[in-house]
Order: sequence, then structure tokens, then C-alpha cells
Amino acid sequence: MKNIILFGAPGAGKGTQATLLAEKFDLIHLSTGEMLRNEVAQGTPLGLRVKDIMNRGDLVGDDIVVGLIAKALDSGRNELLDEWDQLRLRRACGLGPDDPLPEKPQPSIIYDGFPRTVQQCQMLEFLFQKKQRKLDAVISIDVPQEELVRRIHERAMVSNRSDDTEEVIRHRLEEYEAKTRPVLDYYKVSGRLISVDGSGEISETNTRLCQVLQYMLTR
Ligand code: AMP
Repeated sequence: MKNIILFGAPGAGKGTQATLLAEKFDLIHLSTGEMLRNEVAQGTPLGLRVKDIMNRGDLVGDDIVVGLIAKALDSGRNELLDEWDQLRLRRACGLGPDDPLPEKPQPSIIYDGFPRTVQQCQMLEFLFQKKQRKLDAVISIDVPQEELVRRIHERAMVSNRSDDTEEVIRHRLEEYEAKTRPVLDYYKVSGRLISVDGSGEISETNTRLCQVLQYMLTR
């Protein structure tokens, strides 16, 4: 059971790549951004608290995101699966929509968009100690700043994310520089950082990431 952090600036392609890697290597994909958007969409008390923060492009509180990760790690394997994963598992086992899903062993997890502050890194370490997990690698998708800006603007034209507007995008990049970039140094010092060139096409970056993951997961 491995724990792998996929790190990158907004626009680096973390979400796209984490989805592809989760599918290929049968990993659980935990995206704090997705979890928060679900809370907002469902209008939960937590969703109501974070909605405006996300719409401004600010980071939500460390306690909130670490709480979401802790809850996800506490739930069983099958509760971590999204609807699509559940459907795949049902098909593979020849089960109907109401049959209980079989439990699988503790899965490997890819973390997308988390941790985003040094404080979150420290809280994650504490959480891992409690859950008897350990961090295996932090893979950083490196993309030059001008390419990031180009991609986010391109995404903004087609996405219906309320935080993909011109002004909010600029603020998200500022938040990244001020609060999230220091996470790289935090992991560099501990020797757990692997950098992958993410400046090219999705498939090129994916090939590089797959090579790293293949090595990581079979070690
Ligand atoms: P993402 O989908 O990863 O781009 O995240 C969308 C938004 O959710 C961010 O701009 C933040 O407002 C919030 N968010 C997601 N992950 C975190 C995190 N680890 N820490 C703080 N805020 C987060």
C-alpha cells in the first residue's frame, strides 16, 4: 500500500494525470479540490463555509482539508471509490447494482492537490503516523509559468468552474507562489521529491509519470 503525492501548480495537469494514473495502476484518487466541490454542490454546512473562499481563489483552512483526507482514510476501500470505479468493480465481479461490493485489500493512494501548505505537510505526517501509513514519494509535475497561464486560460474557456475566471486565476497563482511552492522545498529536503517534465502534451507527461509509478509501485 503506497502513498504518492502528485504535486503541481494550477494548470500543471494534476487532476488529468491523477485520473489516468489511478485508472492504469488501480489507485484510489483523492482530490481535495473535488471533495470540496462536492460539498459545495451538495450544499452541506462545510460546502457553505468554503464556497466563497474557493470562488475567490483562496486556499481553504488547513484543518478543513486535512479533516477531509482523514475521513477518507478512515472509510473503507469501497467508500473511497467514486461511482465510476464502483461500476467498474461491479462489472469485473459480475455483480448487480444492489449487490454488496467485495472488500479489497488496503489500496495505494494518489493525492491530488494536497498538501498545499507546509502546515498541511506536517499535519499529514502526523495523520500517517496515526494510520500507520507512510509517504512513499512526492512527484512534482513541472511546467513553466507562461505555459501554466496559457493552459489555465484555455481551460477557463471550456470549464464551468466558478474559480476559472481571469481575476481568480491570477489570485490562485499568487496563492500557489506564496503558500504552496514552499511545499516543494519541504519535500526536497527530505529527499522524497521526484520531478517530472510536464511542459509537453498530456500523453508525453503521462508516459513519464507511468515510468515513475511503475518503479514506485513494484519496489
Ligand atoms: P483544485 O481543484 O485542486 O484546483 O482546487 C480548487 C480549490 O479548492 C482551490 O483553489 C482551493 O480553494 C481549494 N483547495 C483544494 N485543495 C486544497 C488544499 N489542499 N488546501 C487548501 N485549499 C484547497
